[in-house]
Amino acid sequence: MGKVYLGVDVGSTYCKSAVLSEDKQLLGYHIVRTGTDFEQAAQAATRSALNMSECSMDDVIRCTSTGYGRDNVSFSNNTVSEISCHSKAVFEKYHSAVTIVDIGGQDNKVIVLDSNGKRVNFVMNRKCAAGTGAFVEDMAQRLGIRVDEMDKYARTADQIIELGSFCTVFAGTELLGYIRNGASLNNLVKGVFYSILKRVTAMAQLQGTVVLTGGVVANNPYLVEMLREMGSCEVLLPSYPQLFGAIGAALYAQSLK
Ligand code: ADP
Repeated sequence: MGKVYLGVDVGSTYCKSAVLSEDKQLLGYHIVRTGTDFEQAAQAATRSALNMSECSMDDVIRCTSTGYGRDNVSFSNNTVSEISCHSKAVFEKYHSAVTIVDIGGQDNKVIVLDSNGKRVNFVMNRKCAAGTGAFVEDMAQRLGIRVDEMDKYARTADQIIELGSFCTVFAGTELLGYIRNGASLNNLVKGVFYSILKRVTAMAQLQGTVVLTGGVVANNPYLVEMLREMGSCEVLLPSYPQLFGAIGAALYAQSLK
């Protein structure tokens, strides 16, 4: 195999590794739960991503790490913030003015890029779990279903049961009340999805073209359909939305060489 660039995104919840060729093609990737040992997660994700690319570490010209645990990757050559990495990967794909909404494990980011890819606005919610992947995981647990079943339940709902609070603790208590009164599980899950979208749209006014990234939309594409139905913007979901931090890091590895 030829020479490749490696991007490692050690997120608070999932660690992603992406391998890009000289001509920026995605050759391999892997996603593992981050857990408590960031270095081990980075190594495991990278080993599998390189395997998929039919490469070894000897083929890697340069590695850039990003994300919450980016300083804990011993084999990376440099670190770049996840905001810069998401911006770079999204602009590389769309080459136009867009708003990026990244819904991650423990935070949400709204990044506005102009037509040159320059960041002109940025909002982040990192103080609480409201509207994040952690919120989805917590609500799934409260409802007694797996997190990877949420999309299926929301999709077959016939109405939205709106939750009064964004807060995981209060929303959880509210869900229990609805369950006790016999509310449909599907309608409650759709209410959880609606709550995420309300949280995101409260962070920033979404206009123009919106590109969604992160693990939550990657695994719950119905959320994307719901945002489209809300109708204030054009909503795009790229392939591999959860990998955009890692892909951006690999692009930095290439451009910083
Ligand atoms: P981070 O970079 O902050 O670790 P990600 O963008 O990787 O976050 O998204 C993590 C979130 O994605 C999880 O909290 C969960 O809600 C969702 N997720 C990840 N994997 C799955 C899966 N297999 N099924 C359902 N949801 C998932």
